[in-house]
Amino acid sequence: MTEVTIKTETPLTVNAYINGEIVESEQHEPRENPAKPQETAGYWPLNSVDDAKRAIDAADEAFKSWKKTDLNERIERMQKAIDKVRENQNDLVKLLSEEHGKPLYDAEGEMTVSLMFMQYAVDNAERVYSETVNEDDRGKNVLRHEPIGVVSAISPWNYPLALSTEKIAPALLAGNTMVLKPSPMAPLTVTLVTQLIAEEFPAGVLNIVNGEAEIGIELTSNEKVRKIAFTGGTATGRHIMKSAADTIKNITLELGGNDPAIFLEDFDVNDEAAMRRIVISNFLTGGQICMIAKRMYVHESIYDEFVEKYMEAANKWLRIGDPTLEETTVGPVNNKQQLEFVQELIEDSRQNGYEIREVGKVADEDFFNNGYFMYPTVVLGADYDSRVVAEEQFGPVVPILKFRDDEHAIELANDSELGLTSSVWGEEEHAIEVSRHIEAGVTMVNTAAIQGLDIRYPFGGVKQSGIGREYGEEGMLEYVDSHVINIPKQKDLPHIPQ
Ligand code: NAD
Repeated sequence: MTEVTIKTETPLTVNAYINGEIVESEQHEPRENPAKPQETAGYWPLNSVDDAKRAIDAADEAFKSWKKTDLNERIERMQKAIDKVRENQNDLVKLLSEEHGKPLYDAEGEMTVSLMFMQYAVDNAERVYSETVNEDDRGKNVLRHEPIGVVSAISPWNYPLALSTEKIAPALLAGNTMVLKPSPMAPLTVTLVTQLIAEEFPAGVLNIVNGEAEIGIELTSNEKVRKIAFTGGTATGRHIMKSAADTIKNITLELGGNDPAIFLEDFDVNDEAAMRRIVISNFLTGGQICMIAKRMYVHESIYDEFVEKYMEAANKWLRIGDPTLEETTVGPVNNKQQLEFVQELIEDSRQNGYEIREVGKVADEDFFNNGYFMYPTVVLGADYDSRVVAEEQFGPVVPILKFRDDEHAIELANDSELGLTSSVWGEEEHAIEVSRHIEAGVTMVNTAAIQGLDIRYPFGGVKQSGIGREYGEEGMLEYVDSHVINIPKQKDLPHIPQ
């Protein structure tokens, strides 16, 4: 078995892992450090479509025996893999912060969520995946949860580790095999972690290839692949559905979000802890999270005071700068293209005459000017259908808008093709009642973003935010097909003439 050594020195070079072997690539690409783009965090392999095909073939071959293994064996192997990741977590967190740009506390948070859900999957595998046998006066039924086959997992750059491990753990525990492709914008940590996990399993059970869209296209169209677990943008999700159609693959799509946050008339604007929570939930990971408050609707009777208190909290809690410093709460944008897109939305707002306010503090202007940094930005007075409101910004800008009454707030919140998460803030029972009318997979009360994620419950979107769920028991069941064996007591139809 090949040992993975977590290297703390940079730049490091990672490689594909196919059929139990590290595969040295002929071509590597640099992953820049977005806080210091002149520095390279490490090199990732630009794998070929042939590499992807070999990985799929290996997974297909391994499936023949892996699907027959005892669940206890899978649980034991996955537990060892989790323990190994846990032992190496400090080095991995540093690398994640460096290649992504997220501050250390944020990278630690991602590692915590990754470990937490993998552990949840191990602890619940027996309950969720075991066969059950029921017998009553109508007959006997055996309900089995069969693995689906080769799973292609494709993940985005914003939470590269969590959004990959949440797929790996349930898929392998259920008896599937997998080929994973992470995003080129944060490929290093997830490649190392996948190798660490893969080493604990037979060759071919878990494979990783890196690359651009063409690798993703192979992984989503190859006929040997039976399931696609994808997290990324809605536009890519549309391509994937088409790719999957020819061979009717099982798909889970976790797509974009443009999450509304509603502040009811009875929200206490003087609640400083709540203000801190909302500011952090707007700009955590620099706003580059699918499940973050991206459209803020505030009742008109509290709007002015809300904006004033929000600005105070934002200027106090948003400290933009070097992700390796403990005091930093907001790092750079992950890549230049995303930075330019967010700036384009702000420019569009400026041209429309909306009020633009930059918030937060920058300790070191030279450092700031050198990286892909920008000030967190609040847009006031935007039209409900303006670009900054209607498009997923996926970066450090957020509009704050007014609403008249609960019905108006619900109408505005639901006026989107997306429906991932959402939040309602105010007196608890009132907020729960308004939440019932929001079109979303998750609605959080008096919190938002990752703070409101409970990995024991299903997570996912409605409308064009996706299909299927991750996390919780429902998320684990996405990796199995049910197979019912019926032994009815009455074996003939009663009305067939004798
Ligand atoms: P993206 O869709 O551009 O890329 C995601 C992954 O798909 C990458 O690995 C990419 O290389 C790959 N890919 C690109 N084209 C492909 C194709 N044609 N076929 C197959 N794979 C292809 O997304 P991104 O920019 O990396 O991530 C940001 C988006 O992800 C945002 O919209 C965000 O809301 C969404 N997201 C959703 C969730 C969720 O749980 N719903 C979580 C995180 C991020």
